[in-house]
Amino acid sequence: MSISSWEFKSPPGHKNMKLVSACLVGIKCRYDGKSNLNRKCLKLFKKGGLIPVCPEQLGGLSTPREPVRIQKSGLVLTELGKDVTKNFIKGAKETLKIAKALGVKVAILKARSPSCGSGLIYDGDFSKKLVKGNGIIAALLKKNKIRVYTELDEVL
Ligand code: SF4
Repeated sequence: MSISSWEFKSPPGHKNMKLVSACLVGIKCRYDGKSNLNRKCLKLFKKGGLIPVCPEQLGGLSTPREPVRIQKSGLVLTELGKDVTKNFIKGAKETLKIAKALGVKVAILKARSPSCGSGLIYDGDFSKKLVKGNGIIAALLKKNKIRVYTELDEVL
């Protein structure tokens, strides 16, 4: 998938705000306290118009935290089996609230994450295997007609 140029060349402003996974612009909000800094996303962020969000933190989870996976049942469990589904749903709803308040139509999210992943996510057994599916926030944004890209898509 490629991102059409108008989505990224239009000047920043209220109408052109886009969400970005906070970890992609260098915020250390990942489960292990690190970031997923992506140079292209950082460049876009510095130009303005990207709103960094971390749905897991918005859902009340601490950093660092245990890694999680979406199970076939739909539950979101940590590696030690703690059910954090409610946190994920809360974080997704809070993120959607931000998107709606700003009229966001596009989001650039972290690939493969159980929150932010789009199209492919890690499977439920904590192996590195990928399965078809969306993270919790990616699914909610798509349901609300917000286009979701990842840092692996052709940006710019
Ligand atoms: S929830 Fe999304 S923004 Fe937060 S650390 Fe995970 S991938 Fe990054």
